[in-house]
Amino acid sequence: MVGIPLKYRMTVRKLARLPRYKGRERYCPICDSHLKCFLPVTFPAFLKDSPFVTRQNAKCPVCGSIERYRLIYLYTKQKTNLFDPPRKKMLHTAPELILTEKFATSRYVDYLSSDIDPGRIGAMVKIDLTDIAFSTDTFDVILSSHVLEHIENDRNALSELYRVLKPGGWAIIQVPIIAEKTFTNPSAQTEEERFRAYGKEDHVRGYGKDYKQLLESVGFKVKVDDFVKSFSPEKIEYLGLIPDEEIYFCMK
Ligand SMILES: [Zn+2]
Repeated sequence: MVGIPLKYRMTVRKLARLPRYKGRERYCPICDSHLKCFLPVTFPAFLKDSPFVTRQNAKCPVCGSIERYRLIYLYTKQKTNLFDPPRKKMLHTAPELILTEKFATSRYVDYLSSDIDPGRIGAMVKIDLTDIAFSTDTFDVILSSHVLEHIENDRNALSELYRVLKPGGWAIIQVPIIAEKTFTNPSAQTEEERFRAYGKEDHVRGYGKDYKQLLESVGFKVKVDDFVKSFSPEKIEYLGLIPDEEIYFCMK
């Protein structure tokens, strides 16, 4: 897709991939495709003796989106003002590039994506979330999904995200919730040990349901939104969503 302008990429993708997967059984809201299926996603087994973990009904065969991308997109479309006036300054950290296409091409979004290693994933600028080189009250909207579990000092990162968000602005800050209570295992130092402790070799903690309190501790007003439950079980399957995934909607 490199070399094709953002706003044409979805059309090109659909021409190339949709004919093979066209159907009525599933629908991807990101690429607006009616599909016969979503594809399974299988995690590589990091340990030789670990079983493969497969999620069925996960990946869009046209745009490559997975469940949480579709949930975030549906949420921003249906529950926020992101795609409506006025024009808003948005920061998207560790960007999901398929969502970048949706946000960056909206006339109401002044879009910036960032990463600690921008070349790795195609982000626009380098930002260390624990020390954000932007003024206080800069952004109207922040999206940061599945980033904090990689950061040693997640509280510093959250304080910085809070600082650069404008009063009246909102952020969606998602992490994988894998336990009742947030935990770290100091003895998990190698990739293999972290995989055993947290399920991913590059995670530094496991978040629990107390994650909301962490968000609140830096100043955010937090709504844990079970938006996905506004859909029937059949619709959740049709859209390829995870039935209990919640949105952490944070306001300043
Ligand atoms: Zn799609």
